[in-house]
Amino acid sequence: MFYFDFMLVLFTLPAVLLAMFAQYRVSSAYRQMSQVRARMSGFHAARKILDDAGLYDVNIEQIPGEMSDHYDPRQKVLRLSPGVYQGHSMAAVGIAAHEAGHAIQDAKHYAPLKIRNLAVPVASIGSNFGMFAIMIGFSLLFSGIALGKFVMLVGIVMFAGVVAFQLINLPVEFDASARAKTELVNLGIITGPELPYVSKVLNAAALTYVAATLHSVLTLLYYIMRYSSATSNDR
Ligand SMILES: [Zn+2]
Repeated sequence: MFYFDFMLVLFTLPAVLLAMFAQYRVSSAYRQMSQVRARMSGFHAARKILDDAGLYDVNIEQIPGEMSDHYDPRQKVLRLSPGVYQGHSMAAVGIAAHEAGHAIQDAKHYAPLKIRNLAVPVASIGSNFGMFAIMIGFSLLFSGIALGKFVMLVGIVMFAGVVAFQLINLPVEFDASARAKTELVNLGIITGPELPYVSKVLNAAALTYVAATLHSVLTLLYYIMRYSSATSNDR
């Protein structure tokens, strides 16, 4: 049932290449900027930014992994990987400040973040079930079953929910990085001339989100094209 769709691979190739490039940029920027020393650890940088924003009740925990850092809006907890939590580097304070930026967005009821959080369950259903429905719809159509059109359309609509989620996620990520850079300099965690070090890591991370979004947009476009050609053929 899950055949290899060569046309889809070709159609989304620009996004795949961009994603590979972004992944390379993130790893190399993280490695490089882990060598540039900062005045404090990622933990202390995040704590300072959170306290300055009055977010004393937002805890910071250490979690295993690399680049597993995130802010959990339900538990109001910042979870940092060991390299970021303990690291006294530009990469560590940059990533920690970015995650603190999400906590500030949450506290200030930043609208795109609220919409993003609401869309999380929709997006996770859409990315699994949407794709599945599209494949089933195709198979039904190939077997000459007209219901396939409807099933495909349902899948496309669900997958469009995933794309919408990723699009609303972009301003959330850009804003968190912008807040991080401002706070790092304002609170004296880094100096103005050190800002490009932090930007290098955060911009590379932002590019991975752009690549993932582009991939979903192209996938959606591809299936819309397949759908319209499938439905016009039998008219
Ligand atoms: Zn983020």
